Amino acid sequence: MPECLFCAIAAETVPATRVLDTARVLAFRDIDPQAPTHVLVIPKEHHPDVAALAAADAGLLHEVITQAHQVAVAEGVSEEGYRVVFNTGPQAGQAVPHVHAHVLGGRSLTWPPG
Ligand code: AMP
Ligand code: ZN
Repeated sequence: MPECLFCAIAAETVPATRVLDTARVLAFRDIDPQAPTHVLVIPKEHHPDVAALAAADAGLLHEVITQAHQVAVAEGVSEEGYRVVFNTGPQAGQAVPHVHAHVLGGRSLTWPPG
């Protein structure tokens, strides 16, 4: 089994609820959702964070963003609006060192709240 959790999900050795699956990109539901729609979008190939992915393969980053929007469409939140977040590094709370876009929607996400 790969040591990286999201590589293991991409390899189907760890289960996940898949929302969308293309040749190079996978989307699955976050195990601890923070909004009615909370989906993670990853490249199947391992890159540690969004900056590393941008430097290594800009086309693949483009696919991740494009599929994040497709998730929003499939979840029915593209019109009302949604948020795409790449936590990067420890102070941002990046817990899994395999780049992932959080797609959040289905509730008010105004920031700061209120
Ligand atoms: P981050 O803090 O940006 O690294 O986000 C990691 C996210 O992965 C968190 O929102 C977790 O809830 C989520 N997560 C951790 N383990 C799993 C898993 N096995 N399946 C789905 N989501 C997970
Ligand atoms: Zn990985």
